[in-house]
Amino acid sequence: MTPAIKVVETIAEMKRVRHELVGTVGFVPTMGYLHEGHLSLAKQAKKENPSVVVSIFVNPTQFGPREDLASYPRDMERDLALLEKEKADIVFAPSATGMYSTRFDSWVEVGEVSHRLEGASRPTHFRGVTTVCAKLFNIVEPTRAYFGQKDAQQALVIRKMVSDLNMNLEIVTLPTVREPDGLAMSSRNVYLKPEERKAATVLYQSLTLAQQMWSRGEKNAGRIRQEMISLIKKQPLAEIDYVSVADAETLEELVEVRPPALVSLAVKIGKPRLIDNVVLE
Ligand code: AMP
Repeated sequence: MTPAIKVVETIAEMKRVRHELVGTVGFVPTMGYLHEGHLSLAKQAKKENPSVVVSIFVNPTQFGPREDLASYPRDMERDLALLEKEKADIVFAPSATGMYSTRFDSWVEVGEVSHRLEGASRPTHFRGVTTVCAKLFNIVEPTRAYFGQKDAQQALVIRKMVSDLNMNLEIVTLPTVREPDGLAMSSRNVYLKPEERKAATVLYQSLTLAQQMWSRGEKNAGRIRQEMISLIKKQPLAEIDYVSVADAETLEELVEVRPPALVSLAVKIGKPRLIDNVVLE
């Protein structure tokens, strides 16, 4: 029996296969080691388009020199089985050398909004993300590309790139999928040791606290940040990178909350660095 899902490993073949597709194409870029968060994007893409392409590519240019590129979890066989179930049509899994020749030296960089929050902590991260997404969009030529709100700043940065550079696709952002205890699903959660996994619930607890304060009428962004920080500091395994209450479009830090505001945070729990966010509407 021929497998229903087609695995494509070269850019040339992806372009050839793309031109055989009829109707709209939904595209889900991922780094693999898939979980329900990724699959929710593939599901929605399948609802909205006759053809769905999912890319699995651990993109080296978005990792900093001291980050976890080499140890990033990978399991292609399992990923393919999960995507078969979602009825994805094509998996594009190029090699790093296929995507970046030794003479590769062209970059796509979004300004201000990519330099805040994650961009401040990981200075070359978004340049890597926007460059690989621009390449993938040129190769796959999707009608729509699907991103998770889990990486809220990434979705914003990609939207800005697509709008500023007049790219010919629609960006769809879908809600964060969580574990029953609130922890946002992430491929990096596998790094968490059992006691760290328990401690990691503090991220969502602090975001929930922010939401409760806001719904009770708190408008002072500083007080919301402070309460979140105090809660996280009670967890000895947690080390805060940032806690932010910012304008949801510009990501400028707010003094007074004006909705929609993005409450986001990055916290190290042991080795893994986790991020999460909610929007105050
Ligand atoms: P990654 O494989 O981490 O690059 O993620 C690929 C896509 O899946 C990105 O658009 C992420 O925002 C999205 N994603 C990751 N985790 C989740 C989640 N828990 N819920 C929804 N989307 C997610």
